[in-house]
Amino acid sequence: MKINYKVEHRNVKYPRLEFKGLTLYVILPYEIKDAAQLLEKRKAWIEKKWNVIQEAIKEANMLQDFMILGESYTIEETNIQKPIIDLSQRKIQANLKNKKHKEIIKQQLKNFLKQKLKNIIREYAQKTGLQLNKIIIKQQKTKWGSCSNKKNMSLNLKIVFLPERIIRYIVYHEMLHLKYKKHNFIFWEEIRKEFPDYKQIEKKLLTYWFYTEMLFRKISNSNNIKKNIRIYYAHPKWLYNTIEEEQGLQTIKNFFKKDIEIINPKEYDENPLYKEMKKREGMNFCYKLIDKCDCVVFQRFIFPKGFKKFVINHILHIDKENLREQLKNIIKKRKVITPGIAKEVNYALEKGKKVYEIIGKRLKEVKNKLREDISFENNQYFIFNGLLQIYRLNLISKNILVFKP
Ligand SMILES: [Zn+2]
Repeated sequence: MKINYKVEHRNVKYPRLEFKGLTLYVILPYEIKDAAQLLEKRKAWIEKKWNVIQEAIKEANMLQDFMILGESYTIEETNIQKPIIDLSQRKIQANLKNKKHKEIIKQQLKNFLKQKLKNIIREYAQKTGLQLNKIIIKQQKTKWGSCSNKKNMSLNLKIVFLPERIIRYIVYHEMLHLKYKKHNFIFWEEIRKEFPDYKQIEKKLLTYWFYTEMLFRKISNSNNIKKNIRIYYAHPKWLYNTIEEEQGLQTIKNFFKKDIEIINPKEYDENPLYKEMKKREGMNFCYKLIDKCDCVVFQRFIFPKGFKKFVINHILHIDKENLREQLKNIIKKRKVITPGIAKEVNYALEKGKKVYEIIGKRLKEVKNKLREDISFENNQYFIFNGLLQIYRLNLISKNILVFKP
């Protein structure tokens, strides 16, 4: 049994595990660095969930060839000019080798779903008194739907394949999130009023997740629907698992807007499969990752508040005068480039890749090579590294802050 997992650090109190499709997400508070312990502790739970997923996939494989709103459809592959979804005869006529045809079918399904949703939402709005602002139908990778603070409901286009009652459940569920953010007792009680069998529906939704995934593949060109941009996120180790890192990731996502994949070198440090390899290969490991990416986004390290004073106090005792001066000069700057970041960025520029810097909530393109502010010379880097660890530990033990400079 090999399960892929991803580690995400978030502003949460307790660690938590969550399967999205076939991937296990390990959500950790900032102060817990390593997922290994949690994974070991929850082994039994993970195995149980994994078996449930395998069952769902088996069930999904036994469902009909094609379905729209839960009704069985046949797909006729023909050399027709324009594809047709014939609702009365329940068949789709199209040339599925034609990329345009697939796009048209997808658009038609979207319109069809929109029409259906209008009625359902109107009905539930009357029933619950809850008002929605906008409905957005799009392809989503991990969710059936979601509701934003602005009262916009996003729904996965995949629901068009589901039986109407299941669609109704998803809509009702998301609408109730306007009133209750969390899946707590009151939330489920209100769900129960409309859907007494909600537990069975939730179970079925897992099977449907994998099933609709298969249907979707029939009508989309996986390599043409989404343009994947791969981005290498170069940031100092000192930023790992801090709020700045989280904000950096968000800024990247906001900037590119498209479907992107962010390669975070941190994840290789946390993954037992790569940890040793990365240690052994050092920068070459990072260069190889950069080779696979379309561009590099980097972030400078901002010294935490109060750190300057802390450093000045602690370097008083260093007897090498020139080193003391070097350290003093470095701490004068607020934002610094660490040696690894300079190497990664310069490598990317040499390879002709685009490079951006995160500045506040923006990205700015950078065309010139970087110079490191802290070097390995005279152990500068390691002195700062040590001081920073001690400084952070102090903050934690005083319970002032957790890793937030
Ligand atoms: Zn929910």
